Amino acid sequence: MRQQRSYSTRAIVLKRINLGEADRIVTLLTPTHGKIQAVAKGVRRPTSKLAGHLELLCHSQLQLAVGRDLDIVTQAENRECFLDLKASQWHMTCGFYLAELVDRFLEEHTQHSRVYFLMLEMLRALDGDAALSQQKEAVDGTRDPLHTVSQLLLRYFEIHLLSQVGYEPAFRACAHCAAELRPEQNGFSAALGGAICPRCSRFWSRPLSVKALHVLRVLQRSEWQAVPRWHLDASLLLEIERVMYDLLRFHLERDLKTWSFLEMLRLERNPHGSALPSTQNL
Ligand SMILES: [Zn+2]
Repeated sequence: MRQQRSYSTRAIVLKRINLGEADRIVTLLTPTHGKIQAVAKGVRRPTSKLAGHLELLCHSQLQLAVGRDLDIVTQAENRECFLDLKASQWHMTCGFYLAELVDRFLEEHTQHSRVYFLMLEMLRALDGDAALSQQKEAVDGTRDPLHTVSQLLLRYFEIHLLSQVGYEPAFRACAHCAAELRPEQNGFSAALGGAICPRCSRFWSRPLSVKALHVLRVLQRSEWQAVPRWHLDASLLLEIERVMYDLLRFHLERDLKTWSFLEMLRLERNPHGSALPSTQNL
């Protein structure tokens, strides 16, 4: 039973829904209270002092009053707005995708401090990648049509989020017989939760290449900063993406809204799926 009348917390804004004439319900990810919903009163009025501090993906310091149903945001102060991320439609959509994933996978009022810190790290990395991409394009006109860094970042987040909520994907040992996987053509099954060895090939829902398994393993066991900045070709990025989408769809039992939007942006930038040359062997 909660007895305190108000509390302060840092929070990342995951979602906002309009309520009545001028209010909003905000879904927040906090370090100690997990995912919570709160009411921001009058936030849609031009004079609101809360408005700029409760934008989507903002990381803010909040004061909340305990309400009968939902808590009420009484003060908000922005700590990080991720302006570079928000200046790039692709990076902003990646951020929205992370927020949608967290919202779908986390129950309310269950502490998930590692997910909070993971989300924060990923937003900072996306912001940094957006700034770097803009600089490169402005200085020498170079651009990565595949968005390799941010695509790997999405896969990294998916793998680690699944682990945090109890669905750690099996990429080291066969998800069926538990034999250690070897660098050979393996397979994959979302229903069994990961990679499947050739001896259990009757359970494969798709083959899994040596390179894709290697990338997935490195993403799973590494800190984000230690993940090599590979140049991967489009087909390998797509293979890894399909594996993760299958896993997410299996656990969520439906698609995510942001998927189709990310797909549209990616095709817009790279309509022929042209491959970048590999500069680092896997
Ligand atoms: Zn097996």
